[in-house]
Amino acid sequence: MTRRADVAVIGGGIVGLAFAWEAARRGRSVVLFEKSPRPVGASVRNFGMVWPIGQLPGDGYARALRSRERWLELRDRAGVWVGECGSLHLAHESDEDAVVREFVAAAGPLGVDCAYLPADEATKRFPAVRPTELRSALYSPTELVVNPPEAIARIPQFLTETYDVVCHFGRAVIGVDMPRLRTAAGENWEADRVFVCSGAEFETLFPDTFASAGLRRCKLQMMKTRPQPQNWRLGPHLAGGLTLCHYKNFEVCRSLPILKARVRETMLEFHRYGIHVMAAQNDRGEVVIGDSHEYDADISPFDKPEIDGLILNYLQDRMVQLPDWTIAARWHGVYAKHPIEPVVFAEPQSRCVVVAATGGAGMTLAFGIARDWWEVNDR
Ligand SMILES: Cc1cc2nc3c(=O)[nH]c(=O)nc-3n(C[C@H](O)[C@H](O)[C@H](O)COP(=O)(O)OP(=O)(O)OC[C@H]3O[C@@H](n4cnc5c(N)ncnc54)[C@H](O)[C@@H]3O)c2cc1C
Repeated sequence: MTRRADVAVIGGGIVGLAFAWEAARRGRSVVLFEKSPRPVGASVRNFGMVWPIGQLPGDGYARALRSRERWLELRDRAGVWVGECGSLHLAHESDEDAVVREFVAAAGPLGVDCAYLPADEATKRFPAVRPTELRSALYSPTELVVNPPEAIARIPQFLTETYDVVCHFGRAVIGVDMPRLRTAAGENWEADRVFVCSGAEFETLFPDTFASAGLRRCKLQMMKTRPQPQNWRLGPHLAGGLTLCHYKNFEVCRSLPILKARVRETMLEFHRYGIHVMAAQNDRGEVVIGDSHEYDADISPFDKPEIDGLILNYLQDRMVQLPDWTIAARWHGVYAKHPIEPVVFAEPQSRCVVVAATGGAGMTLAFGIARDWWEVNDR
C-alpha cells in the first residue's frame, strides 16, 4: 500500500522540524521520518544557544532574528522553555578589547543591537562574571536559550497536535525516487515535495550529492554541570575572547587578524583543537559548557580529556564563578559544515530538496532558513 502526503521530511532534527512546520503552516499535509526512536543528532547535543549576534550583520543577522521569532512562538504556543538571556563576550586582552570596540562601532549602524560595556559595568550588571583581569564586554540582548533535548522532543508533538503532522520515529528512509520514497520497514509513500534534512549523515541518501557539495564534518566536545544550587543563575550566555575568532560577524573588524595571530602563535593547544569557550544555563540550572572543533579525518569516536581540561580551566580562570563545578555529563556532537555557505541546498531530483550544513548555527538559523525557503518557493 502506498500512502500520500503533500510534503515528506526526512530527519527529525531542528532542520527537518523547521521545514515540516513551515509546510504545515501553509496548509500542506506533512509526514516526517526520523530513523532513531528519538532524535540523537546535533540538535539534541548543542548548547541551546539561539545566537543572532554570531551572524554577519545584514542578511545573516536578519535571518537569525526571523528564526528567533519562531522560537518565541514555540514558547507561547507549544510551552517550549525559551529564556531571553542575551549574551556577553568577555575581553581580557587588549587585542580582544580592540575587536569588541570595533565591532560595536561597526555593527550598531548596521542594525545589530549591541553595546560596549567597560569591565566594572559588566560585572555590576552580571555578577556571575569573574572580574579578574576583565577589560570589557560586548553585550547583546537578542540571544535566547533553549533546552535542546526537551525542545526537540516537544516540537514534533506540537506539530502533530496543532497541524496533524504525522511523525514516524524509528523509521529510516532508505530510498527516494520522486515522488516515491521507501522506508527500511518496507513502507511506501508518495509526496509532492521531499526535504532531506539528514544532518551529518551523508552516506544513505544521495551520497553523490553530499560528496560533491564540499561539506565537512566537525566534532565538538561538550560538558554540563549538575544543576546549580539555590536557583543560582548565570544570566546571559558567556563567551570568551577566543569566540571573537570563531564567528563570521567579527570578520568586519580590521583588528581581528592581530587577535587571531596571537591565538595561533601563543595558545597552541587551543588553536590545535579549535577551542573557544562558551557557557549557557538551561531551565534545570545546569550549565552547558563547550567547545572544540575537530574536522573529518581528525574525528575520533573517543573524546580527549585534555580538551575538556583546557575548556574548564579557561572558563574557571577567566570567565565565571560557578557555585558548583561538578561535571554531570560529557558528550560530543558532530555537525555538517560548508567552508563558506551558512546552509547548502541541492535538488538531486525534481522537487526533492537536500538541506544541509547549518554548521554551528542550526538552532539559530533553521527556522529562518525554512521560512525564507518557503516564502520564495511556495508554488
Ligand atoms: C556540540 C554542538 C553544539 C552546538 N551548539 C549550537 C548552538 O548552541 N546554537 C546553534 O545555533 N547551533 C549549535 N550547533 C549546531 C546545531 O546543533 C546544528 O546545526 C543542527 O542541530 C543541525 O540540525 P540538523 O537537523 O541538520 O541535524 P541533526 O540534528 O543531526 O538531525 C538530522 C536527523 O536526521 C536523521 N536521519 C538521517 N538520515 C536519515 C534517514 N535516512 N531517514 C530518517 N532519518 C534520518 C538523523 O537520525 C538525525 O536525527 C551545535 C552543534 C553541536 C554538535
